[in-house]
Amino acid sequence: MTQFTDLRLNPLLLKALAAEGYETPTPIQAQAIPPVLEGRDLLGIAQTGTGKTAAFALPILHRLAADKKAAPRRGCRCLVLSPTRELATQIAESFRSYGRHMGMSVAVIFGGAKYGPQIKALTTGIDILVATPGRLMDHMAERTADLSACEILVLDEADQMLDLGFVVPIRKIVATMSKKRQNLFFSATMPTEISRLAGEMLVDPVKVAVTPGATTVERIDQKLIFIEAPRKRALLADLFSDPAFSRTIVFTRTKRGADRVAQYMEAVGVTAAAIHGDKSQGQRERALAAFKAGKVRALIATDIAARGIDIDAVSHVINYELPQVPEAYVHRIGRTARAGADGSAISFCADDERGLLRDIQRTTRQTIPAIDRRGDKVLGEIAARTVSLPVPEQSLAQPKSREGRDGGRPQRRGGPGGGGGNGGGGRGRSGGGGQRQGQGQGQGGQRQGAAKPAVASSAQRWSPVD
Ligand code: AMP
Repeated sequence: MTQFTDLRLNPLLLKALAAEGYETPTPIQAQAIPPVLEGRDLLGIAQTGTGKTAAFALPILHRLAADKKAAPRRGCRCLVLSPTRELATQIAESFRSYGRHMGMSVAVIFGGAKYGPQIKALTTGIDILVATPGRLMDHMAERTADLSACEILVLDEADQMLDLGFVVPIRKIVATMSKKRQNLFFSATMPTEISRLAGEMLVDPVKVAVTPGATTVERIDQKLIFIEAPRKRALLADLFSDPAFSRTIVFTRTKRGADRVAQYMEAVGVTAAAIHGDKSQGQRERALAAFKAGKVRALIATDIAARGIDIDAVSHVINYELPQVPEAYVHRIGRTARAGADGSAISFCADDERGLLRDIQRTTRQTIPAIDRRGDKVLGEIAARTVSLPVPEQSLAQPKSREGRDGGRPQRRGGPGGGGGNGGGGRGRSGGGGQRQGQGQGQGGQRQGAAKPAVASSAQRWSPVD
């Protein structure tokens, strides 16, 4: 099997990789690194979790170091375009850590952050610039960025760029760049519009495809639970009574749904934070940091917000709602079982989601073992106890933490099912506010109440269903 030492990478990179504990390249790394080192264009069909960041970051660092020169003023030697701020931050972190012995400058540019430091970094010139398209376009319009001398362009998660409406900005950005550059293009899927963009950008590319089916999905213990839609919240409370759900990402279809689930979780005594596109940059970063540090057990996320999040030791992924596109299922469950670890994914399926389930099972070519908890008495009891559970007052009216204030939107009162407010990340409130509303539960009572039944119910057998 190929080792990193076989890839003829700069010894300073090998030193950094050894410190990271990486020995063997992942399939995409083994296939992509040699041609990128030679300067070839690349089309990589791969998603996060496959090791694709290192697949482009390592050969790029090698090439830039092999031809050391000053970064162009107001520009960069390598530009990486990322659809989301979180992914951009992570890519920059990877470049910094792999290139830590090489003295390369790395900067990140995205919306929602101050212009001043970004302009300052651009003015001097940056070796590796990681940017989201919108803010980069702003800098180009203000003439604080000039990409004409950029030598290497990476487009990451191109299909996600399409979903976010970034294809036109990307074309505009690329049009300002010199044609004499190396292009690396990554996408998990290849919709027509994305193949067209790849065709325009890439010159005689090497194509590398890794199927997540073989690499990630097989290591994940997948389960399916049939459940009535209104009982999903109770099911969540029941599952979280098991302490094994220590660092769990819960996926919802909508931003409002993410807020509501986070509020409900807090109300039943499970520390939770929501992360989605309406959250401020500060809120997102604090929610992620709290989740990484184990201060919140549940991170409630929409697909886009979770894309690219690289957090080790995610114990479980829960699909509160099944995704509309089957590929998103693979992306979501890939948040667990990172970097060789095993993981567990549980999907809730209401009656009106059977069609989505069929699509997922067809795409992944597997039948997910299922149990049926419709009409489950334990869940009925939890649902009855928590049906009118108000959202903790503090999280809506007087946020103690900075998260609440940063939202900048008026906060409304409402029950966990009634929406409103933005959840605020809500660390460490443990449902106290909710219980103060006189639901007949003592402090911590909800937590206990929700805790017991799950143990009994988790003994149920998982069996394949159509
Ligand atoms: P990515 O697909 O780039 O988001 O990477 C997924 C995860 O795998 C990250 O946590 C990386 O740090 C880790 N990783 C990437 N390459 C390797 C490797 N060759 N050996 C071990 N872990 C890796």
